[in-house]
Amino acid sequence: MRIAVHQGGVLLLINDTTGIDVAVASGGRFGPAPATIYESWPDFSAWVKELDISALTTVAVDQRGLDCPSPQARQVFGIGLNYKQHAAESGYPLPDVPPVFTKFPTSLAAPYSQVTLPAGGNTDWEAELVVIIGRIGHRIPEARAWSHVAGVCIGQDLSERILQMADPTKQFSLGKSYPGFGPFGPWLVTPDELDDPDNIGIGCSVDGEVMQAARTNDLIFPIPVLIAHLSQTVTLLPGDVIFTGTPGGVGLGMSPARYLAPGQTLVTWAEGLGRIEQTCVAQRE
Ligand code: ZN
Repeated sequence: MRIAVHQGGVLLLINDTTGIDVAVASGGRFGPAPATIYESWPDFSAWVKELDISALTTVAVDQRGLDCPSPQARQVFGIGLNYKQHAAESGYPLPDVPPVFTKFPTSLAAPYSQVTLPAGGNTDWEAELVVIIGRIGHRIPEARAWSHVAGVCIGQDLSERILQMADPTKQFSLGKSYPGFGPFGPWLVTPDELDDPDNIGIGCSVDGEVMQAARTNDLIFPIPVLIAHLSQTVTLLPGDVIFTGTPGGVGLGMSPARYLAPGQTLVTWAEGLGRIEQTCVAQRE
């Protein structure tokens, strides 16, 4: 199943351009708020399986008008250094445990959006597989981790490198939390729709030049390990979002370093999940 968020409601997608309004089709049992769907994800999934879509009214879906699939996420996790090539280009040894930071939820953004580049900053791209949690859990074992996932998306962990790396303690979270710095979507895809949810090709381009291209089977800490690790400490809540780490090819790792500029278009994709697109604009004084 694929679901998208449009004008505050949830659409069950039939294809890329057609959907069913979940609140209408369920007679108000599910939705319209996306957060309520995640709260009842197992029941919602069971209801979708029984649904006879042939009898239902459809609505047109415009990808460019969608919101991100979990706009009211209460917790948003970021994972650092989760691909060998990215750890090397960042000048770090391979980690023994996943480095964790947060993107504050106000950074979440629509799959097609404008990103304001902070004045005087070095804003970098980070294509990432994004996981949305569908079932509450604390101390989730790896073997059951996928059962706590509602679905996956493609996203960008946009990062302003000067603030990210500022002394004295290099807290990543602020530099990754400007408005618009967490676009993801274009819709949620449930793991059963994918040939292998642990092996998805992802990448991004800037003005058509491919910057990153990798597969999630190269993750140092695969998704079940991340869920087990995070939930060892934190209770994961329905609708929570995990940015699972970026592969090599970020601008910071290039020689000389390259960063996003006003007027550039950043396109990010994942095999079987679709694409998102961000247009960069200058900050107004
Ligand atoms: Zn990242």
